[in-house]
Amino acid sequence: MKMTDVRFWIEHALLPQGWVRDVRLQVSAGRIVGVMPGAVPEHGDVRLKIGVPGLGNLHSHAFQRGMAGLAEIGGASGDSFWTWRELMYTFLHRLDPDSFQAIAEQAYMEMLEAGFTRVGEFHYLHHQPDGARYDRPAEMSARVAAAAHATGIGLTLLPVFYAHADFGGAPPNPAQRRLIHDVDGFARLLDDASRAVASLGDAVLGIAPHSLRAVTPEELNVLVPLTAGPVHIHIAEQTREVDACLAWSSQRPVQWLYDHAPVDARWCLVHATHVDPAEVAAMVASQAVVGLCPITEANLGDGIFPMQAFAQAGGRFGVGSDSNVLIDAAEELRLLEYGQRLVARGRNVLARGDGVSSGRWLYQGALDGAAQALGGEAGLVVGASADLVELDAGHAAMTARSGDAWLDSWLFAARRGAVKAVWRAGRQVVSEGRHRHREAIAARYAAVLHKVLGA
Ligand code: ZN
Repeated sequence: MKMTDVRFWIEHALLPQGWVRDVRLQVSAGRIVGVMPGAVPEHGDVRLKIGVPGLGNLHSHAFQRGMAGLAEIGGASGDSFWTWRELMYTFLHRLDPDSFQAIAEQAYMEMLEAGFTRVGEFHYLHHQPDGARYDRPAEMSARVAAAAHATGIGLTLLPVFYAHADFGGAPPNPAQRRLIHDVDGFARLLDDASRAVASLGDAVLGIAPHSLRAVTPEELNVLVPLTAGPVHIHIAEQTREVDACLAWSSQRPVQWLYDHAPVDARWCLVHATHVDPAEVAAMVASQAVVGLCPITEANLGDGIFPMQAFAQAGGRFGVGSDSNVLIDAAEELRLLEYGQRLVARGRNVLARGDGVSSGRWLYQGALDGAAQALGGEAGLVVGASADLVELDAGHAAMTARSGDAWLDSWLFAARRGAVKAVWRAGRQVVSEGRHRHREAIAARYAAVLHKVLGA
């Protein structure tokens, strides 16, 4: 039996149709090749009590994990997203390929421990600190791939095209010099990035035009046909960005995008926080995924996405850890729901239909949306990657519960200890809540941060 040929026997498994008992998953070369309910456990089966599919994290800037918690200081001038971004640029300029990779490994390890099994890395740190090119165009993309390999997380790499400081093609500012490409240089980056991720086996390569601030309409037209994979873009995160877009084009960002780009199910609109009802309708009709990052959006003071209206219309969504200020799959979904409850002054405001569990609705929606946005199959089905999370049946929050109440209790009533074990592509990467390489990765991370932050 090869390493990734495994048989799982799951006493309670969350399948697309709901909770099913005594399920055997047959896995070959990391993929599910058989799902058999009502099976009897056999010698050699890996046995789980409560098994759910691993969740995709559709939006991450891994290196920002290293500055988490360092931008929480009040100031007389009023702190904002834009002052946070200045600190982020300062941090970014201290990173070399080795330190960048060490921080990414720490972030990906924490994601796996939290139940995220694939990451969409919205990757924009491409060049040397002075803006000079590395010998290899995709040097830093290769470091993202190396961090995914070291930790075992599934990777959807989204190399970012960034060329301008503001709407209307404004020249980039010096702080952005590590990010900048022209279209030809970006095509070379993509070409090299495809080689950098090839050895991972099941990596997906897409593109990420950074935002309407950073990309001109002409560039956007050239970029989108460069990939058959996912297209991710930051959009309408801040009201200042909406105002600037209106001043530039007389249209709101999402409205402009739908008028000028072929937005469809390949697209992921990250944030889309500030949208009006017509923009909500356009996003729903296009079947694009809205990438919500509730923890980061709260941390940066972005605002609250009109999720209730979007969900009622059947909009597709997933969650991302974005700035990685805190990495926790359950907390992203909890905060998504709680933000809406606070706005609506009601409870269980997203799940539709009598008796539908909020935890189940949130988890299933985010599972499907992330799989679409990251270019994979959702759930424990034949053909999907064997990405599995075992919830700890012995955790206090899980006591005397079953079925959807396990999901509700994980998302709303437990802390991190609820994730007991994680398998990625059939291979166990987390047991008893800890990544199998935790000590080595954490030691490298600590050494790098002491150096980078000068402590
Ligand atoms: Zn982002």
